[in-house]
Amino acid sequence: MFRAILLEQDDAGFRASLKELDDAALEAQSGDVVVGVEYSTLNYKDALAITNRSPVVRKWPMVAGIDCGGVVLTSANASWKPGDRVVLNGWGAGEVHWGALAERTKVPGEWLVRLPDSISTRQAAAIGTAGYTAMLCVMMLERHGLTAGGEVLVTGAAGGVGSVAVALLAKLGYRVVASTGRPQEADYLHALGATEIIERATISGPGRALQKERWAGVVDVVGSHTLANACAQTRYRGVVAACGLAGALDFPASVAPFILRGVKLIGVDSVMCPIEDRTTAWQRLARDLDPATIERISEEISLAEALERAPGILEGTVRGRLVVDVRR
Ligand code: NDP
Repeated sequence: MFRAILLEQDDAGFRASLKELDDAALEAQSGDVVVGVEYSTLNYKDALAITNRSPVVRKWPMVAGIDCGGVVLTSANASWKPGDRVVLNGWGAGEVHWGALAERTKVPGEWLVRLPDSISTRQAAAIGTAGYTAMLCVMMLERHGLTAGGEVLVTGAAGGVGSVAVALLAKLGYRVVASTGRPQEADYLHALGATEIIERATISGPGRALQKERWAGVVDVVGSHTLANACAQTRYRGVVAACGLAGALDFPASVAPFILRGVKLIGVDSVMCPIEDRTTAWQRLARDLDPATIERISEEISLAEALERAPGILEGTVRGRLVVDVRR
């Protein structure tokens, strides 16, 4: 038997609960590697699934959890052997395939990334899909021409993606401006490396198509008017990485920044991201994110607490990252 957060939807309605599941049920899942999960995490998408606020889960019953750090228990995949330390992010785990808010998960070996030696399974979970997405955003900014020394805006800065993006960009030498709706987190954001904090409300309402040029790059997790304003304030040939919808899914913008300033808007997806970029992202995280920063942004909770804390993520009251020790 193993413990897992099970999401069920039937005639009795929707339920999210901590359950003991039979190993035979896990064996019946597709995949060729069984991972002993050590730490999972609570991401924005996990919160949507656990609260059933959005149709994240597309197969029932579902074990929640889009990511984890763990150790291979059994493998029928030539790339993996028992004892290998791995990280899992996305690919539909916790959505269409049993996920990792559980003591064990079974996945195709091709979904796994080998953990760099310097990152523990706990640190991998503390970084999580949010931190790995932040790294993908940084890689995209670099790939599309962000040059050192410019000012970079990070929105939703006190959240998971935002916290890691602030820390990474600061370490890489950029002047990071953090947008937050929680001014009380200013000390936290300065400690991560933000040089300036701006109030979320200054960029979250409708704005002009072209505004004063400021940002060499942007990491946006909010979407909607915030993303439109970020594009309108981006410097000539600057680059904007859009990865989230914490504000809303819409994008009420004009084409002016793109056709008059050559601004580049790059979409970032972590779920189906090719393995080469995943591997690079985790190697870069090992190099560019200080262990002390990982500690500073993370709070550890138990599997049962993951159920209780999910609504707070959607309310935007959770700071940084929640790490779930699935063994307690
Ligand atoms: P968090 O909940 O940790 O952080 C989101 C932050 O956004 C909050 O902390 C808050 O920051 C800000 N925020 C929340 N609500 C609003 C609002 N109504 N208007 C403006 N800002 C708001 O989530 P994550 O960092 O884990 O994820 C952020 C977004 O990125 C989510 O939409 C998630 O779905 C998406 N995502 C996308 C991925 C991809 O593959 N493309 C992968 C991972 C995440 P503050 O208080 O500082 O303002």
